[in-house]
Amino acid sequence: MTTAHPLRWTRADAEARDASDPLAPLRDQFALPDGTIYLDGNSLGVLPRATAARVQQVVTEEWGRGLITSWNRAGWIELPGRVGDKIARLVGARPGELVVADSTSVNLFKVLSAALAIARADAPQRRVIVSERSNFPTDLYIAESLARAHDLRLVLAEAEDLPALLADRPALLMLTQVNYRSGRLHDMAALTQAAHAAGTLTVWDLAHSAGALPVDLHGAQADFAVGCGYKYLNGGPGAPAFVWAHPRHAERFWQPLAGWMGHAAPFEFTPDYRPAPGIGRYLCGTPSVIGAAALECGVDTLLAAERLGGLAALRAKSLALSEAFIAGVEARCAGHGLQLVTPRDAALRGSQVSFAHAEGGYAMVQALIARGVVGDFRAPDLLRFGFTPLYTRHVDVWDAVEQLRQVLETGEWREARFQQRAAVT
Ligand SMILES: *Cc1c(COP(=O)(O)O)cnc(C)c1O
Repeated sequence: MTTAHPLRWTRADAEARDASDPLAPLRDQFALPDGTIYLDGNSLGVLPRATAARVQQVVTEEWGRGLITSWNRAGWIELPGRVGDKIARLVGARPGELVVADSTSVNLFKVLSAALAIARADAPQRRVIVSERSNFPTDLYIAESLARAHDLRLVLAEAEDLPALLADRPALLMLTQVNYRSGRLHDMAALTQAAHAAGTLTVWDLAHSAGALPVDLHGAQADFAVGCGYKYLNGGPGAPAFVWAHPRHAERFWQPLAGWMGHAAPFEFTPDYRPAPGIGRYLCGTPSVIGAAALECGVDTLLAAERLGGLAALRAKSLALSEAFIAGVEARCAGHGLQLVTPRDAALRGSQVSFAHAEGGYAMVQALIARGVVGDFRAPDLLRFGFTPLYTRHVDVWDAVEQLRQVLETGEWREARFQQRAAVT
């Protein structure tokens, strides 16, 4: 193992780190395309090798041959809970407390509604939902729509101002544990404790933390959580999301989308709704079977790390990668106006690194993609790079910095072909 400071690393140092990385074999679980350095697993995880065969089996055998009998025989009806139990292991929840369903946006609507119902049953005068101004837009939009429907106020603040806002005793604190722009990591336990001291319930979005770092919902005494299946969980585009409610809350109220799959006995076909016990009531309609089967393959790539130190080991590697990237960019790409936006302090950093560049952010990312280094751009000015420790190597970091250096030194990002904005950035 090299002892050189990341600022002075050579490519050989990076190779030596990979050679001694106990997590290196996990990369073989993925069908990574040749010639691509993929630094966007925080937006869409890589295809696991097992997924194509599993999806084919679901389609040709379970659906094609088994047809309707597969709901029982192939266990389709249990998929939301079975995959949920696996995700529970990654986020500090217990078996039976978490289900896979719908999208993150829809699940947010369910948990925010339930949390509001509980908060306002206990303290009807509370009329405020607090969140972070730079939270992911869908989270803010869903909260805004609920605020409109229930005549509440959504109050947005910078991360450092959130604790002070709790003094006003809001109904809910809704946060994404790792900010999608800056990559800043909130202290879930401390903020939840502060919220509870103010009588405020917490709703956590784990989109950028589940599968990226150890999350401990019970340890933090969190109230509700949702998360995304297609980012660090590698479930594929539009994979089902997940939803968790602390058992002390799960049965207190109906969630508002009271569909038949959340009924205590869906196949009794009764005209009246009787909610399923526990988290089961957070299901709504028929589960997306193909999507949930693919998601299970993605989650299994993370559970495969359990015998190699699990999320603690993955977290250590992720921080080593992001640290090396920050140091490399600052040493080798200096003088081109890139501003580090992500916290330098590892304790405050998720699994991504963002740099701001007002003029060239979008074009620089496009020029990098043309060179096989895939990051993404977040308007108005962020170049964003995700470091998924399951499949990213230290040499990938070294090479990505080198490609970025060349993009900047040659000025090729100024070429017209890199300026045209695509629909998805
Ligand atoms: C990716 C992401 C989402 C995605 O929501 P969808 O309903 O899947 O589109 C939601 N919230 C956060 C914080 C995210 O990062």
